[in-house]
Amino acid sequence: MARYVGPVCKLCRREGMKLYLKGERCYSEKCAYTRRPYPPGQHGQGRIKLSEYAVRLREKQKVRRVYGVLERQFSGYFQEASRRKGRTGEEMLALLERRLDNAVHRLGFAASRSEARQLVGHGHVLINGKRLDIPSYIVRVGDNVTLAEGAKKFKFVAAAIAGADKRPQASWLEADRANFAGTIKGSPVREDLNEPEIREQLVVEYYSR
Ligand code: SF4
Repeated sequence: MARYVGPVCKLCRREGMKLYLKGERCYSEKCAYTRRPYPPGQHGQGRIKLSEYAVRLREKQKVRRVYGVLERQFSGYFQEASRRKGRTGEEMLALLERRLDNAVHRLGFAASRSEARQLVGHGHVLINGKRLDIPSYIVRVGDNVTLAEGAKKFKFVAAAIAGADKRPQASWLEADRANFAGTIKGSPVREDLNEPEIREQLVVEYYSR
């Protein structure tokens, strides 16, 4: 599945908040949004009044960018969520959270979702002992996530683990970072998904227009 490969700090500046797309750098003074907290481009510092449609569009784009998925796949998550019994917005977020690349990031083995996606895509992640290289795989309760032998020596994995405690924790996961392992112990809960702030109802309204 394709992914966005352009400059990511511009995305944070466009959405007007930190989306934490670059791992360690996002927590440092080098963060581009900290230094230039206004939209990119010549008119970035002008006054902008967003229409209702634009507010919803921006929220949809923001969530899509946080999880690093392109429009087609993202709208697929929305369609799937709308077929489920619960609240569509929360179901959609739960599906995005349960992506394997997100779970690897949340467990602390990668400082960002794109780093996690690379780990998964290059075959460094095992699910229940078997190599699984599909970042969009939806993890299930009881799944064991471990890193392959080679990945345990990667410097960026060690750096991610060292910084894991300062990133938001996910109560639905149990991490055993000393052994490069983790378990899915439940379903994602809405309260865990507060950084960056997400207003999923606006995404629902965007697709319901
Ligand atoms: Fe770049 Fe991270 Fe700052 Fe966003 S939060 S602007 S990705 S450094």
